[in-house]
Amino acid sequence: MITVAGLTDIDEVFGAELKDRKIFKDLRVLSPHYVPDELPHRESEAVEITKIIAPVLRGEKPDNIFIYGKTGTGKTSVVKYVIRKLGEITNDPEKNPNKMKVMAVYMNCRLSYNSKYQVLLRILNDEALKDPELRNRPLEGTSEKKLLGASPTKLCEKLKAVIEGNGLEMLVVLDEIDTIKDVNDLMYILTRMNDELGKGHISIIGISNRATFKENLDSRSKSTLCEEELVFKAYNANQLRTILMHRAKLGFQPGTIANPEVSLIAAFAAKTNGDARYALQLLQKSGEIAQNAGRSRVTREDVEKARLKVEEDIMYELISTLPENQQIVLYAVAEGVEKGGKYKKLADTPNDVLSSGEIYEIYESLCKKLNKKPRTMRWFREYLNDLEMLGLITLTVSGKGVRGNTSFIRLGSPPAEIKEIIRQSMSL
Ligand code: ADP
Ligand code: MG
Repeated sequence: MITVAGLTDIDEVFGAELKDRKIFKDLRVLSPHYVPDELPHRESEAVEITKIIAPVLRGEKPDNIFIYGKTGTGKTSVVKYVIRKLGEITNDPEKNPNKMKVMAVYMNCRLSYNSKYQVLLRILNDEALKDPELRNRPLEGTSEKKLLGASPTKLCEKLKAVIEGNGLEMLVVLDEIDTIKDVNDLMYILTRMNDELGKGHISIIGISNRATFKENLDSRSKSTLCEEELVFKAYNANQLRTILMHRAKLGFQPGTIANPEVSLIAAFAAKTNGDARYALQLLQKSGEIAQNAGRSRVTREDVEKARLKVEEDIMYELISTLPENQQIVLYAVAEGVEKGGKYKKLADTPNDVLSSGEIYEIYESLCKKLNKKPRTMRWFREYLNDLEMLGLITLTVSGKGVRGNTSFIRLGSPPAEIKEIIRQSMSL
């Protein structure tokens, strides 16, 4: 869905881009990918990570680190920041008198590095390894394409040769490590490689948003990865306020957003989940709303509108990226809520609450329309549970006597909106 400031005409969109910016000074600094020069309230975490990895400057292997914390708590930013600093230091002959060859490879595993194979390939394809000064470069004598077809064992041999041949101190950052399918294997491969290296080392920094990830690792991988462990806590309103103030100063024209509005955004975000990414989204959206209205100051109402809009965007993202089966089930719930439950009198429940049985009937007829074989009731219940986990519906299992093992379902958002999003993403 493309909605650029409510403009639909392409010329207008380009034109608007060139009009003087009343509110924003630099939009880049508001993007979630921007890593600021300062990370307020994360100094101690940054120092701690630095202390753990600093031994690379003496050619000693740092402990592996596992970093866990909810989304938007600054994990990615802090690690990228520390790595950037490490790069500056190793490139400075005064600060790196031993001329240690340090190399950090960052990757977000969710995007395309979700298997040990892809991770190994990504390391071997890193720009730093194309440095002509390196002896035994991974691509020497092979083309990139050839590497792609190589067996995992071959990739490991290459990686080992390049680390050993150059005495590299390699740090591999696996962000969203929980998305790697064969993560136990990968941990095993990398530790074994490290044990076999005569020169140089390879260490891992794993980052995850998911609390359950560590518990699902096998015990050997767990003790390898979690030699050091750091937990990033959610931010409170005060902390979010400093983060936002700093960014507003860089990204907004002077005098366009005042303290009370920034505090309001911080309060909203702290109440929702303490997520700095969400807070920054609110900040940017508030600015956009004011700018589109032709004003040069963000008001309290803009912030309130921004909150609704951001929530809608998040819901859109959540629903449009659901697997198809879950989308169909959610559509069935929305349709059921719109029609009103036929059992509601029987079950003596409010109008917007439906039983799983009646939703299953709607689900079956939807599948028919879509030329799909409906999944069994058991799967259907699984999908309902998934939707509940994401906060899209609420389920209550009925007590004994009321239609046996029925669940009652309530939808979290207006059914028409939900149906529209699903319709757009799967042509229903
Ligand atoms: P996580 O990886 O934990 O989900 P990120 O590091 O991606 O979180 O942070 C999300 C957003 O919030 C980014 O735009 C980042 O710049 C910002 N952010 C998080 N923590 C801080 C902080 N302490 N200071 C400034 N900005 C921060
Ligand atoms: Mg992250």
